[in-house]
Amino acid sequence: MTTYHIDMETDAAPKLPPARERIGPIRVALKQLYPEVAIALEHKNSLELLVATILSAQCTDARVNTVTPALFARFATATDFATCDIKELQKLVKSTGFYKNKAKHIRACCVAIVERFGGEVPGNLDDLVTLPGVGRKTANVILGDAFATPGIPVDTHVGRLSRRLGLTRHRDPVKVERVLMELVPQEEWTKFSHRLILHGRKVCYARKPRCEKCALATMCPKVGVKGLAAKRKRKKKKEESPQRTQRAERKKESK
Ligand code: SF4
Repeated sequence: MTTYHIDMETDAAPKLPPARERIGPIRVALKQLYPEVAIALEHKNSLELLVATILSAQCTDARVNTVTPALFARFATATDFATCDIKELQKLVKSTGFYKNKAKHIRACCVAIVERFGGEVPGNLDDLVTLPGVGRKTANVILGDAFATPGIPVDTHVGRLSRRLGLTRHRDPVKVERVLMELVPQEEWTKFSHRLILHGRKVCYARKPRCEKCALATMCPKVGVKGLAAKRKRKKKKEESPQRTQRAERKKESK
């Protein structure tokens, strides 16, 4: 595996080759770390994956997986969801949070699937993004995992890791997606995004990335990571300052 030298002693900003040259070793390292990857949302067909993906907004996949067996036992087809009692649907998805909005989106989405696509989830990006509650991220999840059509869903992990790894500076998910589509071979798009998500969940945490334990450390410029530590320090100082002020005041009074 290609590695790049970083001066750990001086902690100098690593001079790394451009993303286009590093992406190969990054892909290899991620593949070694996470050889078998699959979406964590349990599903048996494209409709179930679509519903589960809508439910996964602001909620863990594990939580969604506790809710979907009863949900899919009650509603099996797009018509079932489209004609359901909204209160019943809300009750079934309540524990995933934001349940009123999610239930509204699921039902509206299924009404559109029945009315415009004959009850079948469409298998292309242009049609998928016309469904209520379905953005590019959800559409790419459906394409990659239900239709085996490569796509790069850019969620919070994919965006964060792409920036830290110096693959892009963009914050707009659509722009991040375009950059990754240029860098990564098409047949690997879906798996590459799953691998970034796993690495974000296991190592490259949003607040405290474990760079010292990271297999990508020698090929990662860690963009923004130093600033994060300084931010944490400032926050801690701020939190401690009222206590310090109180201590100082007590000292003054006791004189
Ligand atoms: S944990 Fe650190 S070294 Fe690893 S990918 Fe994240 S920022 Fe880069």
